Amino acid sequence: MTTSSYLAAARSGLLAERIEASRRLLADCSLCPRRCKVDRLQGQLGLCRTGVKAEIASYGPHFGEEAVLVGEHGSGTIFFCGCSLLCVFCQNYDISHPDHMHESGCLAVDDRQLAEVMVELQAQGCHNINLVTPSHVVPQILAALPFAVAGGLRVPLIYNSSGYDSVAALSLLDGIVDIYMPDCKFWSADSARRYAKAADYPEVARMALQEMQRQVGDLQINGQGLAEHGLLVRHLLMPGGGAETDGILRFLAEQISVNCYVNIMDQYRPCGRADAFVELGSAVSAKEYRQAMQRAEAYGLTRLDRRDLARLLHHVLDK
Ligand code: SF4
Repeated sequence: MTTSSYLAAARSGLLAERIEASRRLLADCSLCPRRCKVDRLQGQLGLCRTGVKAEIASYGPHFGEEAVLVGEHGSGTIFFCGCSLLCVFCQNYDISHPDHMHESGCLAVDDRQLAEVMVELQAQGCHNINLVTPSHVVPQILAALPFAVAGGLRVPLIYNSSGYDSVAALSLLDGIVDIYMPDCKFWSADSARRYAKAADYPEVARMALQEMQRQVGDLQINGQGLAEHGLLVRHLLMPGGGAETDGILRFLAEQISVNCYVNIMDQYRPCGRADAFVELGSAVSAKEYRQAMQRAEAYGLTRLDRRDLARLLHHVLDK
């Protein structure tokens, strides 16, 4: 088993340096591309509505993630409340969007408590710690790690983000995160503006994915079939979004790596405020899914997540 990166960083003093540097960002928050410039150390809140403490909606072994993360005992997911992207169709709308998150039982945790959650997930047998929507709580995650390491944490750390990450924030995680698992959602500024009020998403995500790939490289999977290190990209197909998907897949093949491990996801269902957008009102068709898989292969992307072979077969046969 590869040694998790944060263990070496804790030993060398790198982690302590990053904790210090990241905490300073909270005083005039420019942690993510929204650059709210609020003082979170003094309780001011920006778009993510998260102050000095991280807030958790839930945690536990998760068996619905990619097979290379789930293994036998599950992926140790920690769902953070709040988000810096805020897509209108979010499937976790009630915990991510500010108008709902504080009614959803979000629990503010200090560094030690967050560390205890990580260690508890490992004790339950989880193969990794899967930080879901972590971009706005990078300093809090870093600050929890020394306590987690002291508590015996050793499994890989997964940064499971929307892809809306600044390179500056990602540089704080260099040598600490083992697996990056970003979404790559929008290819056009128009879509990103319409569905997340983030016209810069495509450019930001492209730079973020390139930085992630620079840091960790292609996904490495061990003899037990579990991911240990590297980049895993998710792309959620959207109804009628074939052109956006095409741009994203081409980018991954040409600018990231043809060996990039990609999960093309077809489970889109209208959630959150999607009903306000007529074009978001349907599921993704079998034909759209099949075409996306064919496009990926045409661009030379061969490491496509195949966890649901039955569904894939269904799509192929359903012509
Ligand atoms: S992390 Fe939150 S407060 Fe900071 S810039 Fe992003 S959205 Fe604003």
